[in-house]
Amino acid sequence: ELRYTHVFEEGELLGWGGYGSVVSSEYFIDGQKYAIKKVPIDGRTLYEDARREVQVLALLKHPHIVQYYTAWFVSDIHGKMGSDSTGPDSATEVAAAAAAASEIETIRGCLYIQQEFCESDLAKLIDRGVGEEEGYRIFLEILEGVSFIHSQGIVHGDLAPKNIFLDKNNRVKIGDFGIAKFVERNELSQVGFEYYSAPEIPCQPDPRSDIFSLGIILFELFHELKTGHERYTVLNMLRDSKLTDPERKVQYDGPIAKLALKLVHKNPTERPEINWIRDQVKELSDDPWSRLKLVSSSC
Ligand code: ATP
Ligand code: MG
Ligand code: MG
Repeated sequence: ELRYTHVFEEGELLGWGGYGSVVSSEYFIDGQKYAIKKVPIDGRTLYEDARREVQVLALLKHPHIVQYYTAWFVSDIHGKMGSDSTGPDSATEVAAAAAAASEIETIRGCLYIQQEFCESDLAKLIDRGVGEEEGYRIFLEILEGVSFIHSQGIVHGDLAPKNIFLDKNNRVKIGDFGIAKFVERNELSQVGFEYYSAPEIPCQPDPRSDIFSLGIILFELFHELKTGHERYTVLNMLRDSKLTDPERKVQYDGPIAKLALKLVHKNPTERPEINWIRDQVKELSDDPWSRLKLVSSSC
């Protein structure tokens, strides 16, 4: 804990996640605020899961992905781990000690992940209400980020408004790669997998599951859902490939709703490619009449 408490001034708790907490901390040396994710580790599986998140983050340097700076592990067993008291070689020593610790089953401690601090997230923005022009800009930025993630052979797996952050300039920063997976690139083995594996076995990570999430997000960006109940019925209706809200007798038949419907197609192979989606969204955003067409009609 030496390194962290000596060079960071801990600020507020930003949130609790499935496995730990995220705090804002100021780094004494550069005077900047960072988001530090603290992942308590008790056992090798947790350690490997947390490491995969870091490995994914380290690969993804992009203007629309939360910037990762560094990560360090402080072991309960090897008190020295993560300490910067060992001089200039400490980074190598920490890595070596962490590698040695990962050999044993009883690995225990805390993994710290230093990331760019983001002011807000899409869930808060949606609550506040999203302007149409802003909606297009934000969705196009999300598409750029997701396109890059997929180009690196990674599936995010948890795209949702609370995992899409916004920096102080309101630019999209995709974050939370806690369940991200590397795609199996061997096409042949994938064919074999589809034929022979039992359906109850979880499928290979598939980038098309991210497209589904994008469909729900696209809809929510352009259609204000006033109450929790309305959000529940309408988003479940969309998940079920329907565009009519049975309770309010509202038909969502604008171009955004129709596009969102394509993205949430039940059959993943029918979901469109990111480039195609981007072209459609750009076309709509350039169309001066799109505002009229977005309005849902009552039936
Ligand atoms: P969940 O399972 O609820 O999605 P999680 O365990 O996956 O949470 P994160 O989503 O990474 O953890 O972070 C938990 C919370 O910490 C977020 O909801 C957010 O409030 C805050 N947070 C995470 N990263 C940042 C960041 N870079 N900047 C600002 N706040 C952040
Ligand atoms: Mg999250
Ligand atoms: Mg998560």
